[in-house]
Amino acid sequence: MEGKRILVTGGAGFLGSHLCDRLIADGHEVICLDDFFTGARANVAHLLDHPRFELMRADVNDRTIIDVDEIYHLACPASPIHYQRNPVRTIRTCVVGTLNMLELAREVHARLLIASTSEVYGDPTLHPQPEGYWGNVNPIGPRACYDEGKRCAEAVAVSFARQYGVAVRIPRIFNTYGPRMHPNDGRVISNFVVQALRGEPLTIYGEGEQTRSFCFVSDLIEGFVRLMGSGLDAEPVNLGNPDEHTIRAIAERVIAMTGSSSRLEHRPLPTDDPVRRRPEIARARAELGWTPRVPLEEGLGATIAYFRERLARGGYSS
Ligand code: NAD
Ligand code: UDP
Repeated sequence: MEGKRILVTGGAGFLGSHLCDRLIADGHEVICLDDFFTGARANVAHLLDHPRFELMRADVNDRTIIDVDEIYHLACPASPIHYQRNPVRTIRTCVVGTLNMLELAREVHARLLIASTSEVYGDPTLHPQPEGYWGNVNPIGPRACYDEGKRCAEAVAVSFARQYGVAVRIPRIFNTYGPRMHPNDGRVISNFVVQALRGEPLTIYGEGEQTRSFCFVSDLIEGFVRLMGSGLDAEPVNLGNPDEHTIRAIAERVIAMTGSSSRLEHRPLPTDDPVRRRPEIARARAELGWTPRVPLEEGLGATIAYFRERLARGGYSS
């Protein structure tokens, strides 16, 4: 297979850095574009000297022209505390940033994958969630800047596909975890693991009866690459692990696996926090031959090992 020139926006973030690793390993030339809003150079430090890797500090809200064959557009804060910190910036990044990437793809005839999310289903009334479900989203709530921003990103992507023939791929990503999650981004797995390793209480929002289905990062990246190479044009595809757990069960599992003496502490449930979430992945199985392989126990083990090592190095003060 001949190497391609590939742009990864948000490439210094959690998912983006793993994707850069994968694309370099597959023999491609990778341009990683990031403004470091939530990402870090450290996530791609091991690639900086690689002859087929280039790191660019830039904001996707500014127009850029780079001649590439494919674009994986991941740039956007992803955790609720990060995307709610500056909601105007979040919605601008979702909408203007995606428009800019679509214009670029149109100009250089690149194939574009945009990272959508299970948040387009909001607090779902249908369980599990298939791609045909239109969702239950509060358009003016605190999550709206992200949920509606990503819904709009999908709408502009399919509009460019219909009107200009731009080749777009749309993964709807469900909760994904693994090494290189930001320790302070407030997502549940990183929070629980860091709290357990520090011997601090694990913060359960509400009663902990809400559910999520967690996909390990390597499985998700495999799904990205298969989707990019597929013929699934302008059709959303759920990527996630259907293995569903209550948040309380996740807390108990993390305590057991870390051997921590931490206790559980309840905090108020955030507004519009979805009650249940599980992907219906029949489309990904049938069209991409994709299925998640890494069981929770194994993925949590790798994630705990990563944070244990980072904490031991004293990497996280803020
Ligand atoms: P992350 O916060 O680790 O990575 C996002 C990256 O985008 C960061 O490196 C950040 O600095 C960069 N970025 C943000 N705004 C930017 C801008 N305007 N210009 C350039 N770079 C910018 O989050 P992640 O978990 O890696 O998520 C990556 C993508 O996947 C996001 O689009 C997110 O919405 C989507 N997603 C992730 C999950 C998940 O569980 N991790 C779930 C659903 C969707
Ligand atoms: N959550 C929790 N404690 C935490 C962080 C999150 O109980 O310290 C809950 C949160 O309320 C939600 C679930 O865990 O119900 C997943 O939260 P996360 O922010 O990881 O993802 P999202 O809500 O976007 O699915």
